[in-house]
Amino acid sequence: MTQITLKTSVTAQGVGLHTGRKVTLTLNPAPVNHGVVFQRLDLERQPKIPALWDKVTDTKLCTLISNENGASVGTIEHLMAALRAANVDNVLVTLDGPEVPIMDGSAEPFHFLITCAGLKTQQAAKKRLHVQKTIRVQEGDKWAEFTPSNIASFDFEVDFDHPSIGQQQRNLTLLNGNFPSQISRARTFGFAHEVEYLRSVGLAQGGSLDNAIVLDREKILNESGLRFPDEFVRHKILDAVGDLYLAGLPIMGHYTGHKAGHALNNQLLHALFADPSSYVIA
Ligand SMILES: [Zn+2]
Repeated sequence: MTQITLKTSVTAQGVGLHTGRKVTLTLNPAPVNHGVVFQRLDLERQPKIPALWDKVTDTKLCTLISNENGASVGTIEHLMAALRAANVDNVLVTLDGPEVPIMDGSAEPFHFLITCAGLKTQQAAKKRLHVQKTIRVQEGDKWAEFTPSNIASFDFEVDFDHPSIGQQQRNLTLLNGNFPSQISRARTFGFAHEVEYLRSVGLAQGGSLDNAIVLDREKILNESGLRFPDEFVRHKILDAVGDLYLAGLPIMGHYTGHKAGHALNNQLLHALFADPSSYVIA
């Protein structure tokens, strides 16, 4: 297996979920051993921020990365998931705002962009991280865990006290075609009372029923309903695929998430890299 980049550059426009402002995003081919790097074209000196676990500075509403001067890019997780699923190792993501556009709230528009650009194999061996022992992080009744496995697989369980969600469990094996067919179209979701609060403090300005599933206390407010009966747990798997690609290379191992989110996913990477006996890179 060799490293992979894009054949050509490809551009999309959309609004940022939190700023509500229009953002132009371009995925550009990049050389071997470059990794996934974001670049803010709208800031002085056009700073670059590598998409790595130790650059994550906020996980409350999305996964946000910053450099040492405070330049940041938020809501990177759905694009990261599409890049991971397409096996893209090297890409320079340029954008003219502080957030990756939310598009339709899923990873499908990014999967489509990558497909349009096409993939190009490069003259260097692909590196992967192989999990060697169990690593677990926990916070109250929420937890996330890696166990050794020869393939990349994900188990997730959500348990929301809400009539439209409840308990949902799903597994994904990240092999060719499973992500685009089962996971990438699953949208992000939020609760109307939370959205109202976020708006009142200047966030979620770009959020709408066009880019999220929104629920009130009893039901789903989107007129067209769900894309899958268990769209919620599918989206949580999507987030985990994206968040864990911040390892900087594909992880071969089995991930289990129980009510976990961006914060625990990042803590899991911190715990993994804190213990050099827990993985081998090859
Ligand atoms: Zn998400």
